[in-house]
Amino acid sequence: MKKFLLFLGAPGSGKGTQAQKLQNKYGICQISTGDLLREVIARKTDLGKKVANYVHNGELVPDEVIVEIVKDKLAQDKDIKENGFILDGFPRTVRQADLLRKVLQDNNMQLEAVVFFEIDLETIVKRILGRLTCAKCGKIYNSYNNLPAQEGQCDVCGGKVARRVDDTEEKIRKRFSIYKEQTEPLLGYYEDSLIKIAGDKDLNAIFEDLEEIVSAKINA
Ligand SMILES: [Zn+2]
Repeated sequence: MKKFLLFLGAPGSGKGTQAQKLQNKYGICQISTGDLLREVIARKTDLGKKVANYVHNGELVPDEVIVEIVKDKLAQDKDIKENGFILDGFPRTVRQADLLRKVLQDNNMQLEAVVFFEIDLETIVKRILGRLTCAKCGKIYNSYNNLPAQEGQCDVCGGKVARRVDDTEEKIRKRFSIYKEQTEPLLGYYEDSLIKIAGDKDLNAIFEDLEEIVSAKINA
């Protein structure tokens, strides 16, 4: 099944998790900017070195550079050509959305749906503060209803299970306000193809909603 989708939502809205689930079930490629940047850096090309520099110095990678990387990915990745993509975390600003529009045009691709994961800040704070991650294998637990059997120790690999350093309440609120200011204007930008989904339900319920939306769009 080939789909061109874009997921919008605040950090912690669960869109990345759902994109991953959709990829696993239908083969639609999840394109997350974080993964793309890591990929490019690992390749150690000129572009990779340039990106590594920004990241290393704690600077934002400029829009043009990110768009260039996405453009390469769309043009070259065979899976994307066959199965489509879910853009996750990109575009982040209206300016990036303008640049993306041009890239999609050049590749004869058109966004079929923009899915917005609607969730309020307090729910995100509660959700992220409860999240515990294994430092070794990445398995995610949570302190409300899914703790490892041994406190602080991963059931799978025995690694150390703890909250990520970046997940303090202050940092969560800061990330949310940046999202509000820079990314939320995209809701207006994509008004015509926007579909809202309740991001505060449990994972499986959200995925069911998503499958319904996606398949309705597919058959339309
Ligand atoms: Zn582990």
